[in-house]
Amino acid sequence: MNIRGTTKVCGIIGNPIKHSMSPIIHNYLAKVKGLDLVYVPFETTNAVAAVAGAYELNVLGMNVTVPHKNAVIPQLKEIDSLAANIGAVNTLVRVDGGFKGYNTDILGLKRQLELENVPLKDMDVVIVGAGGAARAVAFLCASEKVKSLTILNRTVSKAEEIANNIKQVFEGFNVSAYTINDYSVLENEKKYVVIQTTNVGLHPNNLEAPIYDKTFYDRVLYGVDIIYNPSKTKFMQLVNESGGQSFGGIKMLLYQGVLAFELWTGTSVSEEEANEVLQLLKKELNIDE
Ligand code: NAP
Repeated sequence: MNIRGTTKVCGIIGNPIKHSMSPIIHNYLAKVKGLDLVYVPFETTNAVAAVAGAYELNVLGMNVTVPHKNAVIPQLKEIDSLAANIGAVNTLVRVDGGFKGYNTDILGLKRQLELENVPLKDMDVVIVGAGGAARAVAFLCASEKVKSLTILNRTVSKAEEIANNIKQVFEGFNVSAYTINDYSVLENEKKYVVIQTTNVGLHPNNLEAPIYDKTFYDRVLYGVDIIYNPSKTKFMQLVNESGGQSFGGIKMLLYQGVLAFELWTGTSVSEEEANEVLQLLKKELNIDE
């Protein structure tokens, strides 16, 4: 590209950063939109100095990745309410006097579910896992008014902690927490939306699933695995074998980037453009479908 004095800068802070797919997403979108914008990786251990420095250097927008998604929050001028509840921010948008923080990871999942016609409102939802991603998904479920939420995790105390945190914000919300082996608490006559957020099944452990029992999968109407490599996880395969519809995690990755780009530039990315980015991501990640 032709970098000039007018070129706007966006970037990503994290450590490590070399594996990031974000430069591919944003530089491609800047090119197809004909924008005078470049996106670069910034490896840093100091999130506080990085946010202040980015503002001074007139940076338009930033992504934030591991391990800084919590540490940047006190440095923000404003924060989106869903991101504040989750307690993690992955996108900073320049505003007057500082940056506003968003969590486009979770907004990306929200957009994916909307586009794939997977409902949340009034549904009985199960989250498998209780790590950082599960916490964000749980707050999304509460803000989208699911009928009930069941969190299943190997370490039950982490699932309970998320459930308690949500109840403090969304009073009366119907959420319960169990160990992963207690999936038989799910009711036989009900069909659930299940969102798989553990690391189990991640490449190269493609043949692993967090639960193998068919009676669990028989209760799944929609099964969403947020893992994107492999593109079809064992969890997804088991959902399909029991007659449910399954979805993988690459579109969550795609739309977290698309939404950040839209917030920074005020442009709207078409589904055709988003699909072009998706093909680039698949190529980069060696995912063929
Ligand atoms: P995390 O905070 O480390 O949480 C990991 C979760 O996996 C915990 O619930 C953990 O249970 C569970 N787990 C790990 N090994 C397990 C095992 N052998 N058996 C049962 N449970 C196990 O990680 P995270 O940040 O939430 O990320 C989780 C996954 O989401 C990763 O695979 C990541 O790639 C994916 N992700 C995808 C996107 C996307 O854009 N598609 C975005 C974010 C994350 P314990 O609590 O018992 O340890």
